[in-house]
Amino acid sequence: MKLIELRDYNATLLQTDQFKDYCPNGLQVEGRAEVLRIATAVTASQQVLEEAVAWGADAIIAHHGYFWRNEDACIVGVKRARIAQLLKHDVSLLVYHLPLDAHAELGNNAELGKLLGIEERTRFGEQNIVCKGELKTPVTLSQFAKKVGASLQRTPLVIGNADRVIRNVAWCSGGAQDYFEAAIIEGVDVYLTGEVSEHNFHLSNETGVAFIAAGHHATERLGVQALGQHLAAKFSLEHRFFDQDNPV
Ligand SMILES: [Zn+2]
Repeated sequence: MKLIELRDYNATLLQTDQFKDYCPNGLQVEGRAEVLRIATAVTASQQVLEEAVAWGADAIIAHHGYFWRNEDACIVGVKRARIAQLLKHDVSLLVYHLPLDAHAELGNNAELGKLLGIEERTRFGEQNIVCKGELKTPVTLSQFAKKVGASLQRTPLVIGNADRVIRNVAWCSGGAQDYFEAAIIEGVDVYLTGEVSEHNFHLSNETGVAFIAAGHHATERLGVQALGQHLAAKFSLEHRFFDQDNPV
């Protein structure tokens, strides 16, 4: 397919113009006009770029790209090396950040809910980014944490009483620990996100609401793969996910 068709299809599918984001969503670096092989990745790191180029990718679709709001705009250092790699090989970079967290079916949060067996009921927080739902069968915090670890192949950091019964869950992939207070107000038993801050411990301790940091990278592997699979099926493209292990 044509690169511009892919760009426009994704913009409509993910409703990119509906989001206030910290980076540009869509085509960040333009490569060749025809696309057959799409590589997906959480972060468009140098390692991912090299592996995707070696595989023969025409375009890379990532959740974390470049040109973040508060970073230095100059193309120097690591950013120069990454962009040079893309331009040298005529490979495009398409990036979907908040739109890919939020999408009702292919999004990181929707996929995370399905993976953990949580029935989504509603959403809250800025731009309705945080999900809230119920476990079909309530379990203890330690049982739930075990399920999270097994599902994401990474041992989560768990704060709270291991025997607490978990029925209502709020969750948001990535670095969404600042929504913990809003999740407590929503009356959930546990809040699950990717990263953790020091104050999250005290908030959990003093409210009794459990907190799970399951990994920023680990919780954001799902959406971009679901998008890649969707695009491959719809447009007869070749798709491969490039995972770079990240302990954070
Ligand atoms: Zn992220």
